[in-house]
Amino acid sequence: MDVTAILDPLNSAQRDAVSSQAKHLLVLAGAGSGKTRVLVHRIAWLIQVEQISPYSLLAVTFTNKAAREMRARIEDLLGYSGQGMWVGTFHGIAHRLLKMHWQQAGLPENFQILDSDDQLRLVKRVYQTLGIDDSRWPYRQAQGFINAQKDEGLRARHLQPAQDPYQRTMQQIYTAYEEACERGGMVDFGELLLRAHELWLQQPELLQHYQQRFRHVLVDEFQDTNAIQYAWLRMLAGNQVPLMAVGDDDQSIYGWRGAKVENILNFSRDYPDTQTVRLEQNYRSSKNILDAANAVISRNVDRLGKNLWTDDPDGEPIALYAAFNEHDEARFIADRLQDWTSQGNLREEAAILYRSNAQSRVLEEALLRAGIPYRIYGGQKFYERQEIRNALAYLRLLVNRNDDAAFERVVNTPTRGIGDKTVQGLRELARDEGMSLWRAAQKAVDESLLPGRASNAVAGFLALIDELEEGVVELPLAEIADHVIARSGLIDFHRREKGDRGESRVENLQELITACRGFEPEDKALSALPQFLDQAALDAGDRQADAGADAVQLMTLHSAKGLEFPLVILAGMEENLFPHRMSVEEPGRLEEERRLAYVGITRAMQKLYLTFAESRQQYGSESYNAVSRFVRDIPAGLIEEVRLRTHVQRPTSYAQKPTVSLSDSGADTGLSLGQRVTHHVFGEGVVLNFEGNGAHARVQVNFDNEGSKWLVLSYAKLTPL
Ligand code: ATP
Ligand code: MG
Repeated sequence: MDVTAILDPLNSAQRDAVSSQAKHLLVLAGAGSGKTRVLVHRIAWLIQVEQISPYSLLAVTFTNKAAREMRARIEDLLGYSGQGMWVGTFHGIAHRLLKMHWQQAGLPENFQILDSDDQLRLVKRVYQTLGIDDSRWPYRQAQGFINAQKDEGLRARHLQPAQDPYQRTMQQIYTAYEEACERGGMVDFGELLLRAHELWLQQPELLQHYQQRFRHVLVDEFQDTNAIQYAWLRMLAGNQVPLMAVGDDDQSIYGWRGAKVENILNFSRDYPDTQTVRLEQNYRSSKNILDAANAVISRNVDRLGKNLWTDDPDGEPIALYAAFNEHDEARFIADRLQDWTSQGNLREEAAILYRSNAQSRVLEEALLRAGIPYRIYGGQKFYERQEIRNALAYLRLLVNRNDDAAFERVVNTPTRGIGDKTVQGLRELARDEGMSLWRAAQKAVDESLLPGRASNAVAGFLALIDELEEGVVELPLAEIADHVIARSGLIDFHRREKGDRGESRVENLQELITACRGFEPEDKALSALPQFLDQAALDAGDRQADAGADAVQLMTLHSAKGLEFPLVILAGMEENLFPHRMSVEEPGRLEEERRLAYVGITRAMQKLYLTFAESRQQYGSESYNAVSRFVRDIPAGLIEEVRLRTHVQRPTSYAQKPTVSLSDSGADTGLSLGQRVTHHVFGEGVVLNFEGNGAHARVQVNFDNEGSKWLVLSYAKLTPL
């Protein structure tokens, strides 16, 4: 038995926790202080020293990735497989229980899991059955209502009969939705947790069985558990099973999804025989990074308060880069990543973190252009996102009516009463007649082959596409996209979705319009739209890094929880973007944004870059945002502003519109796009891009041997070939 391997790599507070004899344990500590490490070593301790079988252990983490890593680390420490041990997320564990005990849970053996899209579709069907008007009560509102009730552990029958029309309607929908799920044997995410809880309530013998089986239950990221998860845990623990909870109130970032940071406070009250361990030494970040994180989070009022220090040296200063726009920001980031790898580091040790999904597009483009492989973690690449693919499908139909894939994708999105049966009928007709779906639809309408209602709906769709095309033929690309996205109903469709998801989809659609605005067709003589669509298809398709390759990691701040990287770049550190514009008015939400900033900064181990753009195409127009308050909260002594030698002079005032724009043609430079040139140091290359005017003009050249570089034209002395 090798106990030294378990205790040696720990400090004394960590050892206390790992080898504690207390019945319950609460580890409350800041980022990077070794909470997850303590939890992993505690499990190894329980198995090796306390002789607890892995079969009797249950560990809960926040993501499946974290669960896999945890299991691997435990097995590493033990030197053998921890088979039989349950490690998973709350949802994963609930699912497992329901699969094993479907009968007791009142479910059919092969119950279906509804993801969020399936759930929405079911909600729509319920509206139809009940005859509820979705323009008055948007579908997303009902979906949000149902999920929020389930997070609190409430079924429709638990709700007080209500007088006001909103409550009454929502309850009516909830009731019918529950019936539909019951009939169809369907279970949504919230239902997994709710049923698992009811399983304990209604099947005392089963609960007793698990209480005897699990001799220890351990939970990581405890600050982000919601009411039903905590209730489930408490039932399981009863008054016999020892619990260990590990968390950090300063990293509670899922309040908008019903997470309750109060659970941390409740824990020591609910379990009086709890030993609370505080860890104060941070092992992850350099002192500069940690000081910055502490300075930012100290502005929050609502905290338990913690002290976090490090033995590490100051390290490098935090670098701040004020880009003049988002393209400059992305290029700066790509350049820093090149530097990073040229110093012999791995790409996967570097992460770019951002507040909103839509920010990834410009970053992705810069990485693609620089040939840097990247992976988007916990999210999809921009051109693969559903709402973007829907919008592109409309645009594709304008270019080519016979694009069947595009037709199928949007014929009933947003919903316009064209059901699966109708589409199936069209497919058969198209197949029999050897024609495209579009032509089949025309034929079906002309020859009245469909039932009246379906026929009207299909005719409406055909007319919409024709009308869209007529409305836009002569417009510039961005206006085409704007018009099509609006008139197709996609923006309204997503705007009516409640919560973050809908908002983020609308942002992505607006970002698509921005992408169109910045698009430079290769062949100016031809229409821009088909060229843009080809470009988008390429971006989505083959240029992805394959799974195993060394790639830079891109993710939202939310998905970065619990992770760490030697190099972290926080992009878009601007007011209205981060903190998100929806949060600045509400103190509670602003505090959650600040915790998110704390999470972001504390992901960095050695080097942290903060970047912001003085102007940015955002929500479909150009905005000038001030640098984020979270940057201003960092003491100036910790920050070094980066100024690039080759950089164009920036406008003197932040409010003044920069003279630089990406659409500049380079007309006054004597060079043209695609032209071959030679440079006295870098050799031969091709002109890719221009930016700015006069003395500030820059040119991007892809050199045959040196790769792509931005040069200030007045110094570069390029000779056309
Ligand atoms: P977060 O709040 O971000 O989830 P955490 O508190 O869970 O952070 P860990 O991820 O467990 O922190 O640890 C942070 C880093 O510090 C890891 O790289 C871990 O291996 C290292 N570490 C933790 N404790 C020690 C120690 N006693 N000696 C050396 N390294 C340590
Ligand atoms: Mg952790």
